[in-house]
Amino acid sequence: MGNVGVAALQDWIARFSAAVAEKKDWLTELDSAIGDADHGANMSRGMGAVVEKLSGGAPATADELLKTVGMTLVSSVGGASGPLYGTFFLRMGMSAGAVDSLDGASLAGALRAGLDGIVARGKPEAGDKTMFDAMSPAVDAFDGALAGGASVSEAAHAAAAAAATGRDATLPLVARKGRASYLGERSAGHLDPGAASTALLFETLDAAIAAAS
Ligand code: ADP
Ligand code: MG
Repeated sequence: MGNVGVAALQDWIARFSAAVAEKKDWLTELDSAIGDADHGANMSRGMGAVVEKLSGGAPATADELLKTVGMTLVSSVGGASGPLYGTFFLRMGMSAGAVDSLDGASLAGALRAGLDGIVARGKPEAGDKTMFDAMSPAVDAFDGALAGGASVSEAAHAAAAAAATGRDATLPLVARKGRASYLGERSAGHLDPGAASTALLFETLDAAIAAAS
């Protein structure tokens, strides 16, 4: 075992949508401290539109699913997070290809391609206090776990833990990208909202893979 099928990926998307809807007020609260108080609304509107779009029927392949998610986010979210998460899913889809399931290495490659897409689009670097600070350690942890002989579900669990640690590590940082950077030193002492939603992204990937295993 250890392959992640399209149904499990779709379950991930549904779980991520439910998580951002449930945590909408918290994400907005984080963004009201260092941004413009719309991250919860942006993510729940975008992922709500994704679930609505997918309700017509299950895509047969990973690329079809992930590209639909990405395109819907790009077109339905106006904030920085729409194009960034949209690019993440589009690049994941391109990397995954027209397959009905992914093995650990393919999923790792797709997650890495998604992260690279965010870097290409937003130019975040480590410590800039963005979603990158949760995502990059998560993708590294996924790779590291697989290299150490872990199963896909163990790797997803390690990635979720690393994303949460990365989210928490944004607290003292001074933002150098996005709206929060306008605050300069005053951005310190608050969690980055995008890092918080990215921790949910990996928490729900872990949950979806565990449920399918
Ligand atoms: P906006 O900033 O346009 O209001 P959101 O509030 O939805 O959009 O998203 C803000 C989040 O986007 C930030 O918390 C940060 O994690 C992420 N972000 C902003 N700019 C960048 C960037 N250049 N690179 C990576 N992530 C970024
Ligand atoms: Mg905002």
